[in-house]
Amino acid sequence: MCIFVLKSKDMQIQLHKILDVGMCYDILRSIRWDSGVKCTNCQSETVVKNGKVSTNIDVQRYHCHSCKSYFDDLSDTILMVATNLYIIG
Ligand SMILES: [Zn+2]
Repeated sequence: MCIFVLKSKDMQIQLHKILDVGMCYDILRSIRWDSGVKCTNCQSETVVKNGKVSTNIDVQRYHCHSCKSYFDDLSDTILMVATNLYIIG
């Protein structure tokens, strides 16, 4: 179950009301990539899906054809830091 709340200028989503974690990541993707997935390193739109993160099957990985880097739904977000802290303990 998700326990965090996302806020933006136009909407507030109380994710704790959503019981399905996969649905939470679907909402996260729709907000983060609302204008299409862009590389977090070079901002290129020439990216393709590249499987799921091994430690979280709900997080989509991507590969950038321009700079050859890999990133995922949580790259460069506070959620990435929170996830890493949770894994580290
Ligand atoms: Zn790139």
